[in-house]
Amino acid sequence: MKEINALLKQTLSPARAMDHVRHITLHHRIQASPGYRDAAEYCQRALQAAGLDSHILSYPADGEHCYLQEHIWREWGCKGARLDLCAPHAETLCDFAADPMCIAQRSAAADFRDKPLEIVCLPFGVTRENCPDIDLANKLVLADVLLRDGLRWIFEEKKAAGVITDRVQHDEGVRSRQELYDCRMYHSFPFSDVNEREVGGFAFVLTPRQGDKLRRLCADMAAEHEKDPAKPARPTAKGFIETEFYSGALENVLCTIPGETDECIMLTAHLCHPQACANDNASGCAAAMELMRALGELIASGRLPRPRRTIRMLLVPEMAGTNAYLHTLGEGRKKLIAGVNLDMVGARQDGTAGPVIAFRTPEASASLVNDLTSLAVEAAEDDYPAVFSGTERVGAHLYAVRRFSGGSDHQIFSDPLIGVPCVSFTQWPDLFYHTSGDTVERIDPVLVATTARVAGCIVWSLANMAEADLDPLLSRACENYVAALRREAGLWKQNHESARALSRRLALTEEAAARALDGLRRLFPGELSAPVQAMLADERAKLSALREQALRRALALAGMRRDDEPSVKPVSTLPRLTRTFAGDADKDRINQLFEESGSPALVEQHKKYKELESYIDYWTCGLFNAEEIAERAVWECGSGDRDFVGQYLRLLNRAGLVKPADKAQ
Ligand SMILES: [Zn+2]
Repeated sequence: MKEINALLKQTLSPARAMDHVRHITLHHRIQASPGYRDAAEYCQRALQAAGLDSHILSYPADGEHCYLQEHIWREWGCKGARLDLCAPHAETLCDFAADPMCIAQRSAAADFRDKPLEIVCLPFGVTRENCPDIDLANKLVLADVLLRDGLRWIFEEKKAAGVITDRVQHDEGVRSRQELYDCRMYHSFPFSDVNEREVGGFAFVLTPRQGDKLRRLCADMAAEHEKDPAKPARPTAKGFIETEFYSGALENVLCTIPGETDECIMLTAHLCHPQACANDNASGCAAAMELMRALGELIASGRLPRPRRTIRMLLVPEMAGTNAYLHTLGEGRKKLIAGVNLDMVGARQDGTAGPVIAFRTPEASASLVNDLTSLAVEAAEDDYPAVFSGTERVGAHLYAVRRFSGGSDHQIFSDPLIGVPCVSFTQWPDLFYHTSGDTVERIDPVLVATTARVAGCIVWSLANMAEADLDPLLSRACENYVAALRREAGLWKQNHESARALSRRLALTEEAAARALDGLRRLFPGELSAPVQAMLADERAKLSALREQALRRALALAGMRRDDEPSVKPVSTLPRLTRTFAGDADKDRINQLFEESGSPALVEQHKKYKELESYIDYWTCGLFNAEEIAERAVWECGSGDRDFVGQYLRLLNRAGLVKPADKAQ
């Protein structure tokens, strides 16, 4: 790893990476839109200009095609939009040409240039349930609402013409409305909602400062009108949104460094998001592209050999592009060995953006890729000598490694039924996440290049893993395993659980570590040498011994007696379960299943245990029965209810989404 790290350090260019960030952020990159396509074409051309094999994969986006479980919406284009206050004074509130985040993306078309609309202000925190009884028909409704749920009630029940929202997402401890007072939030009508046919709504987006000013204006005019009914009660505005939905396409950018075999190591980043968005995720795309160029240059100049496995970079419209790629690949998925995802990796660490966090794979896809990742993060921390004596070297940037968290394309790859363990790098907290404040000025070119280097160390090691590399990797895996055992013992103590519970926690930890060791087979398809076989047997034995030690110590310190399971376990008659879908579940369908279950209590539980759902899915991979899935999902999630897991599985089973493993095969 030292060698590849040093070579990449010499070759990766922060300036080139920054140039990609600048170019990408010129495009309004909404999934399935002309702006996204322009960005994809830029990336493809830039990779080709660097001498790399790169092309664009195009998929129909016509509202008909379905990739994995995801129904792909129609393409959307916006030519322009404006919102101008007419009375009591003239003022431009929104101009799409100046800031494309001033409308909710995927808004339907509207034109009220010739017939100004009244603006009605709703109180903060308004919902369908607490909405005051005001006539909203054919009005512009100012409210701090999210467009995420489609706001059907405002458009369909209240018959509003359109919405003006000044909502910014508040994340406890990370950011507030005050901190984002001059930023517009990225709002979009939900992609899954066929807005153009079903709702036909449109929305403008204001900064909180603009919103507060407009609210004051509404209040002042209402007060004046109260005193003198001859005066107008409300402000008016005119404007238009020129948008269109049509059968179009969505694109992935593919770039390949061919290896000796057709087995692939994946490097992914999402290319979509509104124009300004720089950290999210022009940074990840730029890092991936510059890494591919650097590897290409090192190979072409003979400083690196041709890799054993193929290295494949994929830039996607988030989730949708990954679904389309994996769907189309079919059985070819078996050739994908492991992956690295880059999503928000380059904002200056100046107090508005935190460490770049490497998120490990979910435990159901436990893999040594995680341990390789901690080695790579450490290898990159060599920017300058540590203070005073200078015998140690340290990194200029903050990195961290944490347990799995979803939310980007790695969550699809890492599904055991897809079978591509994928780590993901994401900077958090990020004050300007999903706002117009996420601009190119925040990007630290050196951080982008450093993350490219970390990713490069992982990808290159995976592509060329040799038996000689195993010793440091297995040592790190063992250290991480000891840390995981300690974590479990800590949680056990904190929660005042039984001796049996500790024994289970540690056993599940060992099970995951053992699965990660087994996964090594995929990196060495041939026969392992005798010393390596002996080394692996050693490691397996060490896992049990360390678990046993952790159990003994924790119980002794707590003054408790061990309560192991009987050594001869009763044979379970429960079938092992698997899913009939791979990748993300169709959330709408599952919500509907719960709605139709006829049990309000179950619907409540489903809302309460939202976090649990993806873990249940991951563990429903053909290896475990319902009880085992429940135990593992609740363990990994850290909260939840096992009975609920049982009900969830029964519901999905009845809908044909979950089946006994043997029957499904
Ligand atoms: Zn992102």
